[in-house]
Amino acid sequence: MNFKNIKKEDEEVWKILKGEEKRQKEGLELVPSENYISPAVKEALASDFSNKYAEGRPGRRYYGGQEFTDAIEILAQNRAKKLFNAKFVNVQPLSGAPANLAVYSALLKPGDKILAMDLNSGGHLTHGHPMTLSAELYNFIPYSLNPKTERLDYGEIERLALKHKPKIILAGFSAYPRNIDWKKFRKIADKSGSILMADVAHIAGLIAGRALDNPLDFGFDLMTTTTHKTLRGPRGGMILVREDEEIFKKINLAVFPGLQGGPHMNNIAALAVALGEAQKPAFKKYARQVIKNAQAMAEVFKKEKVKMISGGTDNHLILLDVWASFGLSGKEVEELLDKVGITTNKNMIFRDTRKALDPSGIRLGTPAMTTRGFKTADAKKLAKLMVELLRKADDLKNIKRVKKEISFLMKKYPSL
Ligand SMILES: *Cc1c(COP(=O)(O)O)cnc(C)c1O
Repeated sequence: MNFKNIKKEDEEVWKILKGEEKRQKEGLELVPSENYISPAVKEALASDFSNKYAEGRPGRRYYGGQEFTDAIEILAQNRAKKLFNAKFVNVQPLSGAPANLAVYSALLKPGDKILAMDLNSGGHLTHGHPMTLSAELYNFIPYSLNPKTERLDYGEIERLALKHKPKIILAGFSAYPRNIDWKKFRKIADKSGSILMADVAHIAGLIAGRALDNPLDFGFDLMTTTTHKTLRGPRGGMILVREDEEIFKKINLAVFPGLQGGPHMNNIAALAVALGEAQKPAFKKYARQVIKNAQAMAEVFKKEKVKMISGGTDNHLILLDVWASFGLSGKEVEELLDKVGITTNKNMIFRDTRKALDPSGIRLGTPAMTTRGFKTADAKKLAKLMVELLRKADDLKNIKRVKKEISFLMKKYPSL
């Protein structure tokens, strides 16, 4: 974007915009929840829909002038339903966290129980962190990982489900590198009589690209997601319901007027564009390559004896125990990687003995670099460079060399 009007009218903002543009272009983005939107999605975000109020739903709005807002929202809905094999969808949630809150408030009364993954094992803040409104309102029962395999412990989940009979069982994570056995969750929910909910915020794009299984195909009642992670759309959220219209009606009312006012129609237009892109064969290739790249990096880490949670990955992300592997904290590694132009994020790991602001782990993922064009050979090269860097954290000459190599890699794939 050239931002020519901003440059003319507001130099102060223009400088900051150009700074971020340069940072994203030159740096290597390894935060697993981030990605790059396409130029087409960008255009839709800047469209005139930004000006429009459209409270309500298509055909039932509280303002006039809805010919095109209805058309774009229905198009986004139809594309989402087809892509994820859902009978109903609400595309209005402003992001992933409000989508989850909408589901909770639609289906639960204060004090009701939700069985969800513990944050330190890979769950999300909205799955019961004590600082959230939902944790104040609802009774979250955390499940964790099997300490030996560092994978989901379905026996433990079943035991907790039968003991507590939660209203909702929630599956879906922010830092879990392995496949999820959706079928086993369905069997557990049948036994405990719970509503079964998936939060696929991280992996929606991999599901849309048919590289991972879709929980709705395995009998999940509903699914929430963000639209801006692997799905590569604008920032936003969606709630998809497999077939239960009663559940869907409650969710609609919870989104509006329960929690939100006017939907961000420019985001919904951009979402329609992104969902159109996700229907194309090229997106299937992208989704498969995301996983191939992550597995290529994991292969190098394994060979170099770097400790990964669960020993590897089946999806787009890897959790490294950098404290055990290099004697460096997650914060130190995040800062060191920043110095060579790699953006990652420190992360608590399962049974972490350190604190959240300086944990033992680093979380990294391949969605953004795969959009950039990285192939498996690049991914392997990158993993090797990272190991070399972390093994000699104090060697300034080495830091400089790695920085140069990273910048060289990025120049190979210049366009965002
Ligand atoms: C990212 C994420 C969310 C929240 O999405 P926001 O758009 O940041 O509100 C919810 N659940 C999971 C599992 C996530 O990874």
